[in-house]
Amino acid sequence: MRQTFLTRILHKFVVGSKKIYANPQLAYSLFVSIFVVVGFFVTAFVFIRITQDAQDRLITVRVGALHDGFSFFAAENIDEPQALRRAMARLALADATLRDLQVVTVDASGERMIIADLIEDENPVLEEQYNFAYDFSSGRPGDSFTFTIEYEGARQFITVRKLDEVQDVWFLTRQSLSEADRIVDQNILYAILMMLLIVIAILFLFLRQTKVVDYFHLYKKLQIKHKEKDSFISTAAHELRAPLAAIRGYAENLKDEKLSEKGKEHLGVVELKSGQLSDLIDDILDVARIQEGRLAINATSVKPMDVVDDVCNTLRVSAEQKGLELVCKEEGNVANVFVDEKRLQQILINLVGNAIKYTEKGTVTLSTKQQGGTVYFSVEDTGIGIGGEHQKHLFDKFYRVQSEKTSNIVGTGLGLWISKRIIELMGGAISVESLENVGTKFTIAFPVEE
Ligand code: ADP
Repeated sequence: MRQTFLTRILHKFVVGSKKIYANPQLAYSLFVSIFVVVGFFVTAFVFIRITQDAQDRLITVRVGALHDGFSFFAAENIDEPQALRRAMARLALADATLRDLQVVTVDASGERMIIADLIEDENPVLEEQYNFAYDFSSGRPGDSFTFTIEYEGARQFITVRKLDEVQDVWFLTRQSLSEADRIVDQNILYAILMMLLIVIAILFLFLRQTKVVDYFHLYKKLQIKHKEKDSFISTAAHELRAPLAAIRGYAENLKDEKLSEKGKEHLGVVELKSGQLSDLIDDILDVARIQEGRLAINATSVKPMDVVDDVCNTLRVSAEQKGLELVCKEEGNVANVFVDEKRLQQILINLVGNAIKYTEKGTVTLSTKQQGGTVYFSVEDTGIGIGGEHQKHLFDKFYRVQSEKTSNIVGTGLGLWISKRIIELMGGAISVESLENVGTKFTIAFPVEE
C-alpha cells in the first residue's frame, strides 16, 4: 500500500517534470511562484526582525530612563532601605516587564551587600549574572549597561549602573521580554500561516495553468484536425466537380434526343438537382477560399446597371415560374464602382434568388441608386420576412430560419455568410431590414469609384 502510494507520487513527479521540460512557460511560472513565496518569506521575516529590534531598543531606552531617575533617587536615599523598597515596588507595578530590582553596595571587606531589593526569583544562575554585571559596570560610573540573557526559555534584559564615582552603590534591574517575544512569535506564526495560504493559492494557480497548457495543446490539435477537415471538404468538393459537369453535360445533350413526356420530366429533375448540387459545391469551395484567405478579388470599373440587368436576365424565368414580378431599375444616374464584377453578380444572384425563394406572391425588386459618394444595390421582396430575433444571426455560417414557412425550402445557410465576406473584401457593407409577413430588403453599399 505504502509502496504503491510512493510509486504514484514518484510517477506524478516524473510526469510533472517532463511536462515542465516540454513547456518552458510552465518552468517560468514555477520560477515566478517560488520567487514570490521566497520573496514573501524573506520580506516578512526581515520586517519582523526590524520590528523586534525596534522594540528592544525602545525597552532599552525606557529602562535607561528609569535607571537615570531611580539612580538619582537612590543616591539621595541610600540610608533609607524602606523608602528605596517602596519606590521599587511602585516601579514594578508601573512596568510589568520588571522582574528583579536591586540596590547593592560593598562593605569594608569588599563583600557585596544588598541595601534594598525586590526579587521575584532567588536563583544562583541569576546571582552569578548579577555579580558579573556589577563587576562590569564598576569601571564606568553613571552609565547604564544592558545585556541579554536567556532564562527559563525567555529573553531577559539585565541593566546595571554604578550610581556615581563617589559611592560604591549599584542599581540593577532584570526585565523579562517574554511578552514582547510572544508577540513576535505570534507574528511569525501569522507570517507562516499567510505563507502557507500563498503557497496553496500559487499551487492552485499553477495547477490551473497546467490545465490551460493542456487546453492549449488540445486547441492546437483541434486546429490541425479542423484544417484537415476543411482541406478534405474542399478536395472532395473539387473532385465532385468533374463528374457533376459530365452529368450536366450529358443531361444537356439528352435535351436534343426524342424523349417521352416522362423522360422529359425526369431530365428536368436531373437538371434541377444537379444545378443545386453545383451551387452547393461552389458555396463549399468559396467558404474554403474565404477561410484560408485565398479568395481572389479581380476588381475593375463596373457599371452598376449592367450587373443589375445581367442578374435579372438570369433569374427572370425563375421569378416568372413562381408567378412573381421581377422589377429591375436604376434610380437616377449611378456612377461606376470598383469591384469584382463576377463576384458582385454572384452576390446579387444569391440575394434575388433568396427573394424569389422566400416570396409566395408579389414583387421582387432589384434596384441601384447613388447617394453622395455611395452606390447602393437593394433587393426588396414582398415575402415571408424575417423575425427580429433571427436578423442578428442572418450572416452567421449555416444559419437558417427554422419555421413552418421555411421547412420545405431547401438551402444551406451559407449564401449570406459568403456574400457578406465577399462584400467586405471588396470594401462594401451589407444590411437588412425586414418585417415578418410583409417583406425583406437587403441593401449593399459600395463607395463610388474614384
Ligand atoms: P439559404 O441557403 O438557407 O437560403 P442564406 O445564407 O442565403 O441560406 O440565407 C440564410 C437564411 O436567411 C435563410 O435560410 C432564410 O431563412 C433567411 N433569408 C434569406 N433571405 C431571405 C428573404 N429574402 N426572405 C426571407 N428570409 C430570408
